[in-house]
Amino acid sequence: MARCLICGSEVDSILVIGKHAICGNCEDAILNRNPNDKEYEELLAVFKPLSQEILASAEKTAETTEQGTIEREIKDEE
Ligand SMILES: [Zn+2]
Repeated sequence: MARCLICGSEVDSILVIGKHAICGNCEDAILNRNPNDKEYEELLAVFKPLSQEILASAEKTAETTEQGTIEREIKDEE
C-alpha cells in the first residue's frame, strides 16, 4: 500500500513515481485540470521536487538493469 502524494489516502499504487504514488482520483483531477487554473500551479509545485527524484530513480533503474544483466551472464556460464 502506498499513500497518494496529493490527497494522502492509501491506494494500491496506480501511478508510482519513485516511492510516491498518485491515486486514480488525483490522476483524473490532474489530467482534467485547466493549465490556466491556479490549482494547477499548486499541483505543479507539489510535483516539482519529484522531478529530481524521477531523474535519480531513472539512473538507478539503468544501473540495476546493467547489474542484472551481468548477474545473468555469470549464471549462464555455470
Ligand atoms: Zn489521491
